[in-house]
Amino acid sequence: MTADVQTLADAHARVLERIAAACGRVGRDPSEVTLVAVSKTVAAERVRAAVAAGITVLGENRVQEAETKVPAVEGAAWHLVGPLQSNKARRALEVFSMIQTVHRADLAVRLDMLCRETSGDERYPVLLQVNVDRDPAKAGFQPEALAAAAESLDTAQRLDFRGLMTVGRQFDDPSDARATFAALRARSDAVRAAWPRLGPDLSMGMSDDFEIAVEEGATIVRIGRAIFGDRPDA
Ligand SMILES: *Cc1c(COP(=O)(O)O)cnc(C)c1O
Repeated sequence: MTADVQTLADAHARVLERIAAACGRVGRDPSEVTLVAVSKTVAAERVRAAVAAGITVLGENRVQEAETKVPAVEGAAWHLVGPLQSNKARRALEVFSMIQTVHRADLAVRLDMLCRETSGDERYPVLLQVNVDRDPAKAGFQPEALAAAAESLDTAQRLDFRGLMTVGRQFDDPSDARATFAALRARSDAVRAAWPRLGPDLSMGMSDDFEIAVEEGATIVRIGRAIFGDRPDA
């Protein structure tokens, strides 16, 4: 193993241990939690080292950055975790195996239309992004708007609505994020009771607060810095 692969393998192992410990505290099975390693701003060569270190799911927040990186890194699945504009929807479907950030019903309808251009009846996996904290700087359904949106979302027959995603606010004390995560889980339960097509996935938690998210039921955590180190723009 090269030094970089070893460093990334160690960081990956530490994050998995912390996920397992958080699961242990609340009686969950760690296999219920998928780690998405967010590789935005990380060069393709280093992302290749991450895959060599055993990381299998990667996340990017920009379609354009992913378009050059994904073909240069083999052996991983890629999730879009950043905002998606309709005019990039086609490219996003080509590059990613999951879009976590469907934030409006009309975007779902557009993705569905693009999926219908291909034959077959496979459903493309997506998550609905919810703006739990009502942060004006963030995209996402308002929590109380989800139930009403389900009617138009339900027309998107070629999408597989796996669950909900949220980008929480950054708090000085990460435990302040707990209420956000608990609210997403409660919203998921409520919407699924009325619209069973919505799956149970909950994508929540990042480097500073993923253990709390796991304690509150996260099935997907999105972790950048705790694996790749600080980003230059951070
Ligand atoms: C960058 C990013 C992450 C990872 O953040 P870290 O703090 O580096 O773990 C997770 N989710 C989204 C949507 C992101 O943009």
